[in-house]
Amino acid sequence: MHKDLEKILFTQEQIHDRVIKLGKQITDDYAGKEIVTVGILKGAIVFFADLMREIKLPVRFDFMAASSYGASTKTSGTVRILKDIDTDIENKHVIIVEDIIDSGLTLKYLKQNFEHRKAASVKLCAMLNKPDGRRTDIYGDYIGFDVPDEFIVGYGLDYASAYRNLPYIGILKKEIYA
Ligand code: 5GP
Ligand code: MG
Ligand code: MG
Repeated sequence: MHKDLEKILFTQEQIHDRVIKLGKQITDDYAGKEIVTVGILKGAIVFFADLMREIKLPVRFDFMAASSYGASTKTSGTVRILKDIDTDIENKHVIIVEDIIDSGLTLKYLKQNFEHRKAASVKLCAMLNKPDGRRTDIYGDYIGFDVPDEFIVGYGLDYASAYRNLPYIGILKKEIYA
């Protein structure tokens, strides 16, 4: 385990098993439909790459970068789109792929934004869900795991741009960001 972590929550094997199940669920739910998956940079990228290979249907990929103003370990609620998709999603079935849902403010904003562009449907997929952080009526449609209200890193999730490449998911020691 990395020395800056307090605890590992999910091992590489546990993540792998869960991603296979999510991919199967999406494959079953979208049979016969055209999917556009939108990965939210940068945190979702590791999960996105693994999940896409478990969806056994034709899929088009796109990416978006969003940022919320405010402190480094909490979301402010004001979302800015830093990089937009270049796919026409009108009448397409969109699945937004995120690393983690905390307050839900980022995904609430992005979901509404896609609905305004006349997507046929918009669903939310997140590797992690922090139920205690929720400040909106956003619930993911496809969730990997629930996590406690702690600062999580690994498998794409960073603190100050570090730890994204850890193959497991864990809790960062408080002394690192306090
Ligand atoms: P929300 O808008 O749901 O509050 O925040 C979502 C974003 O906040 C995530 O995409 C992620 O970038 C960041 N975030 C929320 N909780 C955590 C966490 O525990 N660890 C890390 N690394 N990022 C988090
Ligand atoms: Mg994010
Ligand atoms: Mg981050």
